[in-house]
Amino acid sequence: MLLSVVVPCHNEEHVLSELVDRVRAAVEPTGVDLEIVLVDDGSSDRTVEVLRQLSAEDRRVRYVSLSRNFGKESAMLAGLAYALGAAVVIMDADLQHPPRLIADMLELHRQGHDQVVARRTRDGDAFGRTLLSRTYYRLVNSLVEVRIEDGVGDFRLLSRRAVDALLQLGEYNRFSKGLFAWIGFPTATIDYRNEARYGGDASRWTLRRLLNYGIDGVMSFNNAPLRLAIYVGLVVTALAFGYTAFLVVAAIVDGVTVPGYITLVAAVIGLGGLQLLFLGVIGEYVGRIYYESKQRPHFLVAESSDNHEPTVRPRR
Ligand code: UDP
Ligand code: MG
Repeated sequence: MLLSVVVPCHNEEHVLSELVDRVRAAVEPTGVDLEIVLVDDGSSDRTVEVLRQLSAEDRRVRYVSLSRNFGKESAMLAGLAYALGAAVVIMDADLQHPPRLIADMLELHRQGHDQVVARRTRDGDAFGRTLLSRTYYRLVNSLVEVRIEDGVGDFRLLSRRAVDALLQLGEYNRFSKGLFAWIGFPTATIDYRNEARYGGDASRWTLRRLLNYGIDGVMSFNNAPLRLAIYVGLVVTALAFGYTAFLVVAAIVDGVTVPGYITLVAAVIGLGGLQLLFLGVIGEYVGRIYYESKQRPHFLVAESSDNHEPTVRPRR
């Protein structure tokens, strides 16, 4: 059996050889054949050169270099498209995903699981960060029909049929956590402790990126926000009609007393705000349709260790 280990790499020149060593050491005892598919996601440092060298030293190391930075989601997709294995492990380059778990993942895969997910416990995370993540997952899960668990990331093993299923999902806005949950298949979970990033700085997730990611999570999976817009619109309109009726009755009974300046201003501002908000929501969906309708490829390959095209292309 061939196992592919897919690693998206963006400016990871310092960790790659350590990573490759550790992955080789972790897979050796399991007796399966190994290939490591390293995807350079438009790095601005010497990552590509390191990849060329690693690949020249060991034929089991293959690499793909994308033409620019397409983002981790696209880099992972490129890796999945190039991977040839009967099972594929996706992991980060920075060794925050401990390679020693691969053996356990393989064992669970042999027992018939198509997805083996590594779940990170949050020991040692900043309290605020933990709280933010917990709240986020609670929110997303209440809105989206697939279940996404806290601490579950992209570190996982996928069987060949799960990989093929993922490659069939050709959407441009890729929200992996949702896609992994969407394809289903028997799934097992392994817990592991939080590891510090190897070399380099801490997480590159800024608050703004997290917020955008959150909006992506909700928007790319269903139209609940549009539904919400309809309900809020209904409630506000009903309130406005009720209030107008009350004003008319009051004017008939008491005559016109105070000119409704405040009411007017409140209504204009409130409704204006609501309309802008939901226009934004609708615009977000229209924007997504716009991007999907262009049917652009998810990534472009500038160079790779094999001189053939990916075996499986994401379906458009
Ligand atoms: N990565 C990538 N493209 C990007 C950003 C990140 O391929 O545009 C890779 C990066 O090299 C690493 C993984 O995605 O292997 C996770 O990145 P990072 O450690 O910055 O994120 P975090 O661990 O905070 O989620
Ligand atoms: Mg990391």
